[in-house]
Amino acid sequence: MNDILQKLIKLSHELGREDRELAILGEGNTSADLGDGTFLVKASGSQLGTIDEGGLTRVHLDPVLEAVENPNLTDDQVRGRLEEARVDQSARLPSVETFLHALCIKEAGAKWVGHTHTTSVLRILCSKLGAEPFLKHVYPDEIVVCGRNLAVVPYIDPGLHLAVAVRDSLRKFMDEHGAAPKVILMVNHGPVALGATDREVLNIMLMLDKWAKVIAGSYLMGGPNFLEGGISDRIENRPDEHYRRAAIGNIK
Ligand SMILES: [Zn+2]
Repeated sequence: MNDILQKLIKLSHELGREDRELAILGEGNTSADLGDGTFLVKASGSQLGTIDEGGLTRVHLDPVLEAVENPNLTDDQVRGRLEEARVDQSARLPSVETFLHALCIKEAGAKWVGHTHTTSVLRILCSKLGAEPFLKHVYPDEIVVCGRNLAVVPYIDPGLHLAVAVRDSLRKFMDEHGAAPKVILMVNHGPVALGATDREVLNIMLMLDKWAKVIAGSYLMGGPNFLEGGISDRIENRPDEHYRRAAIGNIK
């Protein structure tokens, strides 16, 4: 567990670097599956950029998932569930987005999860276009790192209700595509990266940032020249792209 804890602190620091504009102040959260029915998740109120061991709380997966089956819990009951889910009852209260992280681990098989409020991505997700520009592709590397298809969730109050929407979106995505997404875009809120490794979560967030800047810039030059769907499919499935994915740490 200590190795995963240290890696999660490092990943959080990388995502919370102010110069990257992925998350500032208390924005965003991270988690890592410990593989024994528990996971580590950012505690409420801690900051990604400066987080230490006390800012991450180990929680049991099952009680968190059970709460998602009960979306009508009151705010006090939600807090009670989060308190009870802690492995160490003296640990800090886990983030209200703990439910979302548990679903990414359970439903989508993610080992590492990162959620940010990336400025460049929000420029698009908070625009009239919402997630639309991310549903097609403009250059190969964003397909290699972020995946051919992304899951999208409309704006929902963060917490239990958002987690229910994420669960439904993940199930629909996996039915349609036969695999889990690497990215969930939450409109008017921010992206979630689902990784097999800590490095993959950071890679996805950095590439998503670049992709968003490219899209926004292209609207100044007459609009994006989207790749045809068949070309995007081909890039997703090319053997040399699988090799490239592994080489940059996207596959364990
Ligand atoms: Zn958020």
